[in-house]
Amino acid sequence: MAKSRPSRGTRRSRSAASPRRSWPRIVLIAVVVIVALAFALSRIPGLRRSLRGSPPPAGRPLSLLLVTLDTTRADHLGIYGYQRARTRHIDQLAREGVRFEWAFSPAPITLPAHASILTGLYPFAHGVRNNGNFYLSDKFETLTTILRRRGYRTAAFVSSFILDRRYGLARGFETYDDRMEGESPQVLALEAERRGDRTALALDAWLAKNAAVQPAPFFAWLHLYDPHEPYHAPPPFGPAFADSPYDGEIAFDDAIVASVMDKLGQLGLKDHTLVAIIGDHGESLGEHGEETHTMFVYDAAIRVPFILWRPGVVPAGRVVIEPVRATDLAPTVLELLEAPPLQTDHGRSLVPLIRGARDDRTPPIYAETLVPQLYNNWAPLRTVRDERWKLIEAPRPELYDVSADPGETRNLYADRTQAAHGLEEELRRLTGGASGAMSVGKMDRETLEKLASLGYIGAGAEPSPSPKPALRPDPKDMIGVFNRLRAANSAVRDRRFSEALPILQEILGKDPRNAFAQLVLGSAHMGMGDYHAAIARYRKYLDLVPTSSYAHQWMAICYLRLGDRQNAVREADAALAIDPRFSDARILKGGVLAGRGDYPGALAELRTAVEADPAKPMLRLDLAKVLTEAGQEGEAQAQYEAALKIQPDYAPALSGMGALYAKQGKFNEAVTVLQRALEVEPRQEDARFNLAKAYEGMGRTSDARTEYERLAQAPGTSPAIRDAARQRLSTLATKSGR
Ligand SMILES: [Zn+2]
Repeated sequence: MAKSRPSRGTRRSRSAASPRRSWPRIVLIAVVVIVALAFALSRIPGLRRSLRGSPPPAGRPLSLLLVTLDTTRADHLGIYGYQRARTRHIDQLAREGVRFEWAFSPAPITLPAHASILTGLYPFAHGVRNNGNFYLSDKFETLTTILRRRGYRTAAFVSSFILDRRYGLARGFETYDDRMEGESPQVLALEAERRGDRTALALDAWLAKNAAVQPAPFFAWLHLYDPHEPYHAPPPFGPAFADSPYDGEIAFDDAIVASVMDKLGQLGLKDHTLVAIIGDHGESLGEHGEETHTMFVYDAAIRVPFILWRPGVVPAGRVVIEPVRATDLAPTVLELLEAPPLQTDHGRSLVPLIRGARDDRTPPIYAETLVPQLYNNWAPLRTVRDERWKLIEAPRPELYDVSADPGETRNLYADRTQAAHGLEEELRRLTGGASGAMSVGKMDRETLEKLASLGYIGAGAEPSPSPKPALRPDPKDMIGVFNRLRAANSAVRDRRFSEALPILQEILGKDPRNAFAQLVLGSAHMGMGDYHAAIARYRKYLDLVPTSSYAHQWMAICYLRLGDRQNAVREADAALAIDPRFSDARILKGGVLAGRGDYPGALAELRTAVEADPAKPMLRLDLAKVLTEAGQEGEAQAQYEAALKIQPDYAPALSGMGALYAKQGKFNEAVTVLQRALEVEPRQEDARFNLAKAYEGMGRTSDARTEYERLAQAPGTSPAIRDAARQRLSTLATKSGR
């Protein structure tokens, strides 16, 4: 298989910025958005192995563990025939359970794919067509809502900001743990993801606290993001796979799956748990010229591993070779759990296939990517396949005999017209001939009126005449341009601006309608501190993508940095008009209002953000800080306590709580909390300064001096804190000399 050395690429990242020290921290979804910011019917005899698990005892409902492996190609697991794999734990589960040889994701994009796994619907039906400002609507029944209604304890543990609760997948989950790493304000450049072992630890803790002590069955979803680029597996996996780091990440996730299975065993839950493992999409690794995923719908990007395990419930060693879909997962596990079915036209229970029935006819298998269109104004791609043929609808359509040519290298569209037309008809039938639902994209009248009142007249209009899909550039002709854009985006992320600018300017010179290039150029200008130029680029981007609440938010941040608070609020309002759930915009607006001394206005915004997302400790922290400034200390304390109840080791909340105690003269409490804050995160200089002051308040002068000296001497201390610490030291010296 062709495999290129994958380059570090684009990734959504977040960074924290404080326009003024006393303002709430503003989370900006940063600078770089990514495109992350999108057979013959015979049967192989099952390999009979000894069962490691025992059959579930009768009469007790089965629990469900769903593991989604992000960016994981089926053919990079050992059990799917990959020689270099180190995936023996997942391989073992497949040997003891059912493995689907040919399973396909409906989109090579994380959020749409997961929305399909949970709803059993294709993206054109559930409307989540890309990552970012698409949301799963509340109107859809999901695997989670059905199981929750049946009394299941439900919890999700996700590892990427792309699956943040704001995007609608949290519904039905009692616990939705989407804490990402580096959310502490001390860390400036953040990657909004969480290493899989840490996500799994959160799952382990939940299982121990809830599932193990409750008679009710549970549904737990663990999402592992590690194989997404950049590929940096921790030791020993990274070093062991120095020449194929992508495989190192998969090996790392295999070890994580093993640890979770061990935990289920320790807690006595393993015998009652059905385990479903599926990939959300693949990774092209250079095939067809694509380095990662989102641009193409070739099998490299949409074929995924799919395994079911539960001895006694699914047969051991069964390999199903009929092609199946990620949308089949929910109907299948619901039947195995004896739960009510999901109403879906796009998924079916695979239980008959698992038990050995044969298909008369495999349902057509669909996939799509709108990323070429939404980011670049190129043509979207749609594909449909049957047992033998795969059609890719594109300006230059493609047809592959996937049974003879699994690498999709010989386009037979011109030669096999009958097969091609049959699948084109199938595609029309499936989609109703329309492009399908979009959970953003069309703005309602109220939104348009709000935007017009903010000066955005005509924002809802189609952004200047857009060519019909068939007349737009074909992604396969543009993949070279896209790879250069990704390289430019990575350069911007790594602050190599001089490398990125010529590429972006050249691409925009030829193709001014390339929204992604406008966006990356805006980010570059923002990164370089040229906020006027950045705002101009974001405006051009909004001409092409008027529904982007993010672009308004970034403009708001640019205006803030220019000291133009009025326009900053205006842009935050525009972001909120498009997306009232966009809490980052609310936090920004609240911060500006608080900075002006408008505490009632600021608190109204921040309270709305907390109400919309009550389980996000970060939002409560921001609210608590403004409450403290506004003199409402009792409520501030309650918000700190609520944040710490959600996340007991949340260092900024511990620090804020400590500062509040110190302000109230409760020095003993302050010292306890601040010491804890510094245990968690020793680099919090304001926490250390407040600790020193609390020591002073208690008369522990020598302890106070020690902390002030640390601050005065540490090379990384900010000038303001260092000066303040030196001043306290000289005051203490004067006092003791008296
Ligand atoms: Zn993904």
